[in-house]
Amino acid sequence: MSSIRAWQKLSNRTEPFQYTVWTEFTPLAIKNQAVNLGQGFPGFKCPDFVKQALADATNADENQYARSQGFLPLVQEIARVYGRKHNREINPLTEVVVTVGATEGIMSSFLGMIDEGDEVVIIEPSFDCYIPAIIMNGGKPVGVPLIPPQPGETLWNIDFERLESAFNERTRVFMINTPHNPIGKVFSRQELERIAAILNKWPNVAIISDEVYEYVIFDDREHLSIADFSNLWERTVTLSSAGKIFSITGWKTGWAVGGPYVIKKIATSHLWNPYCSNTPCQGAVARCLRIADEPYNGFPNYYLWLRNEYSRKREILYNLLKNAKTLNLDPIMPEGGFFLCARVDPSVIDRSYLETATPDFAFSRWLTEQIKICTIPCSAFYLPEHKQDGENLVRFALCKDYSDYEAAAKILINDNSS
Ligand code: PMP
Ligand code: GLN
Repeated sequence: MSSIRAWQKLSNRTEPFQYTVWTEFTPLAIKNQAVNLGQGFPGFKCPDFVKQALADATNADENQYARSQGFLPLVQEIARVYGRKHNREINPLTEVVVTVGATEGIMSSFLGMIDEGDEVVIIEPSFDCYIPAIIMNGGKPVGVPLIPPQPGETLWNIDFERLESAFNERTRVFMINTPHNPIGKVFSRQELERIAAILNKWPNVAIISDEVYEYVIFDDREHLSIADFSNLWERTVTLSSAGKIFSITGWKTGWAVGGPYVIKKIATSHLWNPYCSNTPCQGAVARCLRIADEPYNGFPNYYLWLRNEYSRKREILYNLLKNAKTLNLDPIMPEGGFFLCARVDPSVIDRSYLETATPDFAFSRWLTEQIKICTIPCSAFYLPEHKQDGENLVRFALCKDYSDYEAAAKILINDNSS
């Protein structure tokens, strides 16, 4: 018998979205004192210049509400950095909005861009906040799953025919994420050209490009933005986040750049929730964007240092998982981003875990509780109709401290010898 009271019958909009993998697995890792290679927050300290910048901002009395669209010194810095990147003049007053992390950028984008019944084409897997953000704003996500690599290979491919057939007159937005969470795909020039060609057939569609991992690119790959292809700038919103760039996810400072019309739509959502993002962090990030261009720890600039750190961690984590014989994982080398996915072998885990869960959830719970290493199940990144595609895949974070990988290695080496 339902014990729901009359006043508890509140909005249905949020009802289906009470669970996330973060609210399950981060507490589970803490409870089990597991090495947390799950949720994607840096396990190391942010640089000293970043901490100093926040102290400087607050000491400079940058402590009151900021301009809603973004604190002036920060939007000016963003216009400078992204003007250089996109090779165009960016107007800091009309083509930039500062958000409460990229998460608010995503929510505000959908609030400002879609109406009831509008369709949004997303590529799957996709970062888990996209689907709730679309549905809570009345839209319908239309997922186009990537083709997973064959065992031993690394490339996730786009089925272009399937992508093209996902568009119709009801499609209002196309969303892309590069470098990609969770699979670490970096979309190539050729792929983006083909996607742009499809978008040019659909002039009714606006674009959201989530590029929060823009600086974490491996080998000789380049980070490219869909906004720079075939005059898509005007109808594209490109998102990023200081959380990822400066290892300060708790500051929740992100931004969107793009054509004035789409930026105004986001800025209007943002104007009413939350009005502005917090000023000291904005002031600090403005300082950090200047410092980031200077030589850092023996590298020509901070971004190259960051890229090198993540490249080293990718190697360490890949080798660790490859050599953990008792886990029998098949790790897939990422091309960019904070994560590395691996195929699981359900036969290595306690059978009891498989009685109530798909292999990815069973493996993640077992690894966290029994082996004391936390990972994230990848079916969480798919729509219900495509979850099967992620059920053999788990995601490990590259953004942890060297000591975390050492701790994980210790566990797995001991485990191997037992
Ligand atoms: N997009 C992707 C792909 C992410 O992985 C994250 C990480 N949380 C976000 C957006 C949100 O970023 P933020 O922490 O700035 O809200
Ligand atoms: N982006 C991070 C991840 O994918 C954290 C997600 C979150 O905390 N919402 O792990």
